[in-house]
Amino acid sequence: MSKKYNVAVVGATGMVGRKMIEVLLERSFPINELKLLASHRSANSRIEAGGKTYIVEELVPESFTGIDYAFFSAGGDISKQFAPEAVKRGTIVIDNSNAFRMDEGIPLVVPEVNPEEAFKHKGIISNPNCSTIQMVVALQPLQKAAGIKRVVAATYQAVSGAGKAAVDELHEQTRAYLDGKPVPAERIPHKGALHNYQLAFNCVPQIDVFVEDGYSKEEIKMINETRKIMGLPGLPVTTTTVRLPVVTGHSIAVNIELDKPLDADQARRVLSDAPGIVVIDNPAELAYPMPLDAADDDAVFVGRIRPDHSVENGLNLWVVSDNIRKGAATNSIQIAELLIK
Ligand code: NAP
Repeated sequence: MSKKYNVAVVGATGMVGRKMIEVLLERSFPINELKLLASHRSANSRIEAGGKTYIVEELVPESFTGIDYAFFSAGGDISKQFAPEAVKRGTIVIDNSNAFRMDEGIPLVVPEVNPEEAFKHKGIISNPNCSTIQMVVALQPLQKAAGIKRVVAATYQAVSGAGKAAVDELHEQTRAYLDGKPVPAERIPHKGALHNYQLAFNCVPQIDVFVEDGYSKEEIKMINETRKIMGLPGLPVTTTTVRLPVVTGHSIAVNIELDKPLDADQARRVLSDAPGIVVIDNPAELAYPMPLDAADDDAVFVGRIRPDHSVENGLNLWVVSDNIRKGAATNSIQIAELLIK
C-alpha cells in the first residue's frame, strides 16, 4: 500500500485554509490523519469536508507532533512563531505567508518553474505571493524561448486576496451603497490603515503597506519573488498593484521585452505548450481570460497576446488565475506532491 501522511492545515477556517482542505481532498492527497488548526476563537468549531466532520483545534506547538506536512496560511506572525516549532517536531512546513519567502536557504517554489528548488528545503518551503505565482508561470516559457530583458506589470487583484473579512465587507458595501446607506470601510487597503476606502464600485491602487520609494509591499514582493523563483537576480521588473471589486481571480497586464524576436503566434504556441497554462486568445471571437471564468480552476489563463511595437522584441500579455487556488492552495499542495512523488 502506498504511504499516507499526517497533514495539518494551519488557518483552516480562513479563505486559503478552507480551499486548502478542498484541494487536498479533490487531488486525493494521500492523507492518513487531517488536523485542522486555527486560533482559540475557532477552536471546537466544525468543518465539513469530503463527507466527514472535522473539529478545529487551537494551534499550539504540540499540534505538530506526528504531523508529516503542515500547510500554513494564518499570516506571517503565526508562521514565524509556529513554523520552527513544527520543524523541530519533524514536520515539513509549506508556508503561504511572506514570513520566510526571501530568506536565504528557504526555497520559494512554483512547481512549473523551479521544482528542483523544493528538494533543497531544511524543513520550510515558501509558497510565493499569489500575483507572482501566476505571472512567473507565464514568464518562464517565454524566458526559455527568447530570454526576458525587462518586465512591466500592472495587477487587477481580487478582494479575496485580503481574506474572508474583506470579501464580506465588499458584499456589505455593495448592498449598503445600492440601498443608499452608509458604506462600511475597514479592510481596504488593509485593516488599521490611516484611511480605509470603499472598494465597491471603485479600485484602490494600494495593496499592503507602503515601504520604499512610493512602492507598496505587494509591489516589492512581486519584484523580488519573481527574481528569486526564476533565478534571475538582476532581472529588471517593475509593478503597480491595484485592488478591484472582484471576489476571485487576479488579472495582470504584463509587458515584456525579450532578448530575441518572438512574434505573437510563436508566443501563443510556446505558452500553449507550457505546463499549467491555458491560452484563450481570439480577438475575432472576443475570447480572452476573465476572472469570473478562471474562478475555481487551477490553470493560469493567458490571452491578449500581441506585440508591443514601442520597443524592440516587445510583447503584451493578459494573465488571469484564481488567486486562492493556483495563487495559494493548489500551488502549496503541488509543492507537497513534488516531495512525496
Ligand atoms: P483569513 O481568511 O483572514 O484567515 C485567517 C486564518 O488564520 C483563519 O483560519 C484564522 O483562524 C487563522 N488565525 C488567525 N490568527 C490566528 C492565531 N493566532 N492562531 C492560529 N490561527 C490564526 O485569511 P486568508 O486570506 O486565508 O489568508 C491567510 C494567509 O494566507 C495570510 O498570511 C495571507 O497573506 C496568505 N495568503 C497567501 C496567498 C499566497 O500564498 N499566494 C494568497 C492569499 C493569502 P480563526 O478562525 O481562529 O480566526
